[in-house]
Amino acid sequence: MLGNLQLSDIAKASGGRLVGEDIVVSGVSTDTRENLEGCLFVALTGASFDGHSFITTAFNAGAKAVLVAESSDCEHEPRIEVKDTTRAYGVIGRLIRNRFTYPVVAITGSNGKTSVKDWLAQVLEQNRSVLKTQSNLNNQIGVPKTLLSLEHQHQCAVVEAGTSFPGEIELLGSAIHADIVILTNASGSHLEGFGSIKGIAVEKGKLIETARPNATVILNADDDSYDYWCGLLKGRSLRSFSLVNPNATIFARNIEQSAIGSKTELVFEEEVYELMLDRPGRHHVVNAMAVALALIALGMPFSEVVSELSHPAQVPGRMEQIVTKSKALMINDCYNASPKSVEAAMDVTALFHDKVKWVVLGALGELGDQEVSVHQGLGAYAANVGVDQFISIGPIAQLAAQEFAKRINSASAHYCVTKEEAIALLAALDSNNVILVKGSRSAKMEDIVNALKN
Ligand code: ATP
Ligand code: MG
Repeated sequence: MLGNLQLSDIAKASGGRLVGEDIVVSGVSTDTRENLEGCLFVALTGASFDGHSFITTAFNAGAKAVLVAESSDCEHEPRIEVKDTTRAYGVIGRLIRNRFTYPVVAITGSNGKTSVKDWLAQVLEQNRSVLKTQSNLNNQIGVPKTLLSLEHQHQCAVVEAGTSFPGEIELLGSAIHADIVILTNASGSHLEGFGSIKGIAVEKGKLIETARPNATVILNADDDSYDYWCGLLKGRSLRSFSLVNPNATIFARNIEQSAIGSKTELVFEEEVYELMLDRPGRHHVVNAMAVALALIALGMPFSEVVSELSHPAQVPGRMEQIVTKSKALMINDCYNASPKSVEAAMDVTALFHDKVKWVVLGALGELGDQEVSVHQGLGAYAANVGVDQFISIGPIAQLAAQEFAKRINSASAHYCVTKEEAIALLAALDSNNVILVKGSRSAKMEDIVNALKN
């Protein structure tokens, strides 16, 4: 239960105007399919929907008040009129967040946000009540929704913040007002709209600038934007992680990778412990360090942290190992793709030394004018790490397969126009094969996974 909220407080905080009686609401909802009894209904507007058309439904379903755009012709009372209802929703999220003093961890970065969020929550949930972002609800609607679920029974919150336009992290960060910030990395995902990696770094850095003045900030010392982010700390405490720099707060050395997992030594303040991870991929070692620093900041001793970190959380659609009908090993990493995450997934595929290694790539979206060079680069990367067979789906991913063909041979590159063609190529592969399936969300590569899986 949200507890009481006075309409005039919401109007004041969101710079809006209250029309009608200043009542108290007991909840906030944006969806008329939810229980609206006693609630404020917030009319959000998206590309394919307009909450303003559901206002009468909301009142009929028990809503006590409505928050609308000042440009709307709504005459229901009581109502709060604001310039932008989505921004106001974020402000309500902040009002609720400020009621709680337990630690709130905020996570952003180009890759690994959900992986780190779920892993951290998985460890914390063993002995405390944790609120975490559900699945990937990390945008200007999902973050306030998460904050509105904060309750007194919780002891900690782990909130994922994503961005698809400049300014979004500042909005989200102001609402989250984090005690602990984790910034995983800045790479070329969602280049459109940000222009450059620097643009992305500036955007992600807003999570630091909006955190509490005494927050702990966990940064990737191996990222090109590390120095820039350090410049934003303004007295907040820095903790860093690195695969190469022994001076980082936590440092992973002597990494041994195999198809079944990774072994490494974690060095933290002169203490060294061996960490065994039961899922393959270097990125899990990186994420382990970020999770470890957050756990330490939350008061867990390092020795205990290491013993709790052997099982990275399995996020559906991310490096999920599935056996196909014909007994090949499929790596389902088709939830989404950025250039760095494609490389990371290819690195893992390359660890299966005893198998024929296939990559099936759908197009990566949102790359702006880097579309051609990124896809070509990924074809070259596959060839360099030892991929044996490359299947592209559609004309954009074909650029990657062409580059692969140049470096390996034309017989090992397959240019499919449809997913059905790829499925036909893969359907009979046996247990001597490993197949990585990867592409942007828009490529819907799960169609291939679903057709092949047992
Ligand atoms: P989104 O922007 O879609 O919310 P996200 O940042 O939450 O993505 P995840 O869903 O955790 O990222 O992971 C996406 C992909 O990135 C996974 O397939 C995983 O293999 C890869 N990945 C996870 N952690 C890292 C990392 N630290 N560096 C590079 N790649 C990573
Ligand atoms: Mg995510």
